Amino acid sequence: MTNTPLPKNRDGVDQEQFLAILSREEALERFEAALFPRTAPGEQRALADALGCALADDVVAPIDVPPFDRSNVDGFAVRSADLHSASEAAPMRLMLNDEVIACGTAPLRPVLSGTATPIATGGPLPRGADAILMIEHTQPAGSRAIEIRRAASPGQFVSYAGSDIARGEALLRAGTIIGSREIGMLAACGIAQVFVTRRPRVAVFSTGDELVQPGEQLAPAAIYDTNGAIVAAAINENGGEAVFLGAIPDDEEKLEAAMRKALGESDMLVLSGGTSKGAGDVSHRIVGRLGQPGIVAHGVALKPGKPLCLAVCDGKPVVILPGFPTSAMFTFHDMIVPVLRRMAGLPPRSDAKVTAKVPVRIASELGRTEFVMVSLVEGSDGLIAYPSGKGSGAITSFARADGFLRIDALADQMPAGSRADVTLFTPHVRVPDLVIVGSHCTGLDLLTAQLSRAGLSVRSIAVGSLGGLAAAKRGECDFAPIHLFDEKSETYNAPFLGEGLELVPGWRRMQGIVFRKGDKRFEGFGAQEAVRSALADPACIMVNRNQGAGTRILIDRLLGEARPDGYWNQPRSHNAVAAAVVQHRADWGMTIAPVAHAAGLGFIPLAEEHYDFALVTARKQRPAVQAFLAALASEDGRAALQRAGFRPA
Ligand code: AMP
Ligand code: MG
Repeated sequence: MTNTPLPKNRDGVDQEQFLAILSREEALERFEAALFPRTAPGEQRALADALGCALADDVVAPIDVPPFDRSNVDGFAVRSADLHSASEAAPMRLMLNDEVIACGTAPLRPVLSGTATPIATGGPLPRGADAILMIEHTQPAGSRAIEIRRAASPGQFVSYAGSDIARGEALLRAGTIIGSREIGMLAACGIAQVFVTRRPRVAVFSTGDELVQPGEQLAPAAIYDTNGAIVAAAINENGGEAVFLGAIPDDEEKLEAAMRKALGESDMLVLSGGTSKGAGDVSHRIVGRLGQPGIVAHGVALKPGKPLCLAVCDGKPVVILPGFPTSAMFTFHDMIVPVLRRMAGLPPRSDAKVTAKVPVRIASELGRTEFVMVSLVEGSDGLIAYPSGKGSGAITSFARADGFLRIDALADQMPAGSRADVTLFTPHVRVPDLVIVGSHCTGLDLLTAQLSRAGLSVRSIAVGSLGGLAAAKRGECDFAPIHLFDEKSETYNAPFLGEGLELVPGWRRMQGIVFRKGDKRFEGFGAQEAVRSALADPACIMVNRNQGAGTRILIDRLLGEARPDGYWNQPRSHNAVAAAVVQHRADWGMTIAPVAHAAGLGFIPLAEEHYDFALVTARKQRPAVQAFLAALASEDGRAALQRAGFRPA
């Protein structure tokens, strides 16, 4: 690979560009070429610990199963020749031998002609016997004999030694993944230890000064380490043995020491973060010093996941995943899982695919193969794939998706209405019982909880009111939750419905001004007064809402011509407004009462927003729709909404 010129940044420090951007296929090819072929080390494992491992050697059956001829039923061991002429018209009598063969008892007496020996299911056949009579097909004849009215064929109700598994037979082949059925076969042969491919030991850590482990206190500007947990779990899911080493700060010396130690003690190293060109990003520089041949790909024409760095250091794979969780997860599954599974002796994952229609245009960057996470719902003529609009920084983009579709590097978009192949994350499509597409509200979760408890699955796709309405008009969902204010009629929602849709009243959400409790500029005032007071203080910063939000209309009315500091900070959600005020990035804003109260903020009520449902009439009779309507009308549902600060309509 060649080095591109290194531009200097402001501090005069060399800013490293990606060495050369490779296509996904070429990056994977180079990575695999540097790693394979290799001999996977094997190890003995106790049968109970071998679940999910790949057998390293063929297993040959050491014994016959069953080990002796045995009875399949409760009955009598006999000589079939004694009974060949037995019938209803000519019943036969056999004398009972003085022995009962229970399971686990070796027989002592032979079955001589004209006799029978009582035998239990699983009991070994005695000498001389060649068939079993079912107890139901015999009658007692005095205390020491039985009467039989049907013929017996040789071998009836007998399992012969080795009929299940024959000694010397290849029981399981190398490479077989040990599941409960394989464990059953091995146990039947008395095998307690198996030689399996050793699970690769994979050291995992996260990098970043901002990372805090789950369970610890979140400091200002810190975030929870998401990648550590997800990568460790994905390694264990794919045949590896993850050793999670925590998060290491962006300190080159500490990081290098940690990487060297981890690599020395494991077969593979996976870190995340620090692979792009940011100020603290040092991990990829260290990788270059860890062993030969070093970095084989840094920068892949892949979205999400461009900054992926793949290296092989003295035979061991070293991977630096991008920091953003969805990028990290996606590249891990796409590029690292195949290699890890090969190292673990597991077959490649077989990912199921379906075709689905994409309802909206998806813009894409030219020159990068783009993978778009999608949620699947059932439309009127087949599956619909909704792109998750949250971007690679969002964990839910990946975690809540059903699968992904691929947009070619040479395409700059996927037009609305396209048919696309969707690769599933699960073996089968899971079509939800109820599909809700539109504006999300925490109140919704209180109602859908009732459906989940009743075993109905609910998919809620947050695309905003207008997106939801469009989906409802196309018949792609059952309901679209909306809160659209019509300025002309000064009413909510009803004016926006079209043919085929009906309005189901939901609940009211009180909107008002939020501020930090105790702030004298707001405490005790009405909304108009509070805004006047805020405008009077030049140091006071507001947080606005995005154009198109119903809340924004209220804010603009209160402000009139004024454009105070913070006006251009226009987040897209009620929660973001509260967070800005809590974190002192702003002093006031407008949000809904439940969010204000959950955030512990002061609240000055102003006007109620109507959060209602555009119901697709054609889907009204579906059981899950009826269940949702019932939950909405139920005492429990209304009480839960009220407790959370909503006012049911
Ligand atoms: P980096 O590649 O280190 O510049 O990180 C890119 C983005 O991903 C930043 O916003 C990081 O805070 C975030 N990030 C990095 N590592 C993690 C992690 N382990 N968990 C969650 N977010 C992360
Ligand atoms: Mg970082």
